[in-house]
Amino acid sequence: MTPPAQSAVPALPAKVPDQPPSALVEHPDCVACADTRSWLLAHDRAEATPAREWDTTTFGLGWLFRYFRWGPSRWPFAWCDVPGAAHLDCGVLACVAGMVLTARGLRVERVQLVERAAVEETALWRARWRAAGCPAGWILSDREVYHEVLLVHAEPEPVLFDPTELRQVGQGRDRPLWMRKWVW
Ligand SMILES: [Zn+2]
Repeated sequence: MTPPAQSAVPALPAKVPDQPPSALVEHPDCVACADTRSWLLAHDRAEATPAREWDTTTFGLGWLFRYFRWGPSRWPFAWCDVPGAAHLDCGVLACVAGMVLTARGLRVERVQLVERAAVEETALWRARWRAAGCPAGWILSDREVYHEVLLVHAEPEPVLFDPTELRQVGQGRDRPLWMRKWVW
């Protein structure tokens, strides 16, 4: 009997990110910053369903995408910038989702990834970010992108959750090339 073929060990990404995960600016004494968080939390509570507690695929955060689309965000980005933003990048979405899930009583840690991408995707994204006047440093190479996700300490086990894609981070072929857990 031949043993099952080993999957190739992925090569280390060309560039390993050295910056901390994105953090939203919280303006001191800014009513709009506080209102944004209140709005997000109120909305999240209103969307609660009995099944949500066991949903470790989307964590019931689909409602966010009724208001926002993934896309370029101009940094620095403040909480009060969220309501008027047409697009939120993965860093903003990780901050927003992290805040909401923490308020539900879940322990959440930030995780930075390098993921594979197709050359056609990175070309498209680079053009999109350029058109929006936003730096595209997160596109590390034609085939590698920086991404931010969350480690959610759910039951029965922690889940590596991607709030941008609303799914668990792939364990198979789309497993990240590089990963760093960030403890605040
Ligand atoms: Zn503000």
